[in-house]
Amino acid sequence: MENCIFCQIVARNAPASIVYEDNNCLAFMDIQPVTPGHVLVVPRQHAIGLNDLPVEIGGHLFKVGQKISAGLKKSRIRCEGINFFLADGAVAFQTVFHVHLHVIPRFAGDGFRLVFGPDYRKLPDRSDLDRLANDLKVFL
Ligand SMILES: [Zn+2]
Repeated sequence: MENCIFCQIVARNAPASIVYEDNNCLAFMDIQPVTPGHVLVVPRQHAIGLNDLPVEIGGHLFKVGQKISAGLKKSRIRCEGINFFLADGAVAFQTVFHVHLHVIPRFAGDGFRLVFGPDYRKLPDRSDLDRLANDLKVFL
């Protein structure tokens, strides 16, 4: 996809600070890092969202994310913990529509937070959880 920045990076037509690559994916430094050392792992093939990506490639992105996490912890980059984040869809904060896994090094006081909705602390009944599980599992 010529107008996709991640495809351009994969094709080496746009600059990136690449940390890892193999036959299926590329990993490079995020240009707008949440914390220093924030890496994006992207499949070489263009896929907008998870449904467009073969499951074995999706699994591979996670495997490479683990490898990068291990590297971050050994490196001099400040890293006391790791968050993986994958935004699938605009409502889930996806802004580049080529699947990518964020690998975000974390440290105490880094300022990154999650903000939950108003009902987060109200725990659902087991019957609600069972109903949701039944609604979902027929599609798995
Ligand atoms: Zn793309």
